[in-house]
Parts: sequence; structure tokens; C-alpha cells
Amino acid sequence: MEHDIVCGMEIKNTLSAPLIIYKGKTYYFCTDLCKIQFEQEPEKYIQKGDSEQDEHQD
Ligand SMILES: [Zn+2]
Repeated sequence: MEHDIVCGMEIKNTLSAPLIIYKGKTYYFCTDLCKIQFEQEPEKYIQKGDSEQDEHQD
């Protein structure tokens, strides 16, 4: 199940959901409003909601 990274809502139908491909990763949104918010400050939402370990500092 995909999540809208802006508002946290579950995206039940990714086929009809607005999406953005940002830095090679696909983000789905419940509405264009959330998509627009993400477009304005993508890093803000990615840092908050994404805990992938791309850069492992040791
Ligand atoms: Zn949303």
C-alpha cells in the first residue's frame, strides 16, 4: 500500500492517483493539492516520512 507522503493518507488506487517521480522514486498523492505541496517543498516531506538508509554514515 502506498501512502501520500504529504498528508499520510493511504492511496488505494495508484492507477488514478496523481504521482511524481522524484530522484528516481515514485510518490503518490490523494489529490493534486497534496501533489502541489510536495512539488513546492519535496525535501521537507521526504526527510520527514522516509527512513531509507541510502547514506550510511559510520
Ligand atoms: Zn494527501
